[in-house]
Amino acid sequence: MSECHSCTHFKKPGMSRGYCSVREDLPRAYGIAHPLRKLPPDNGQNCSAYIENPAMWIGVRTTPSGNG
Ligand code: SF4
Repeated sequence: MSECHSCTHFKKPGMSRGYCSVREDLPRAYGIAHPLRKLPPDNGQNCSAYIENPAMWIGVRTTPSGNG
């Protein structure tokens, strides 16, 4: 399931709670010239622009097949 915090388009500058960097339908974070957008109310659960951030794969362990 998609959500903003695991999306490659999620940006978190400074002490902010995070923003979207691609969806132009969302309101701008800090005025008309700012490139980042406020996160959607559903936190990206139905977002067609979602792409999983590869950094989320860190810590995922795999076992060779056949070794249980
Ligand atoms: S709104 Fe969509 S594209 Fe933007 S950060 Fe959330 S899931 Fe990613």
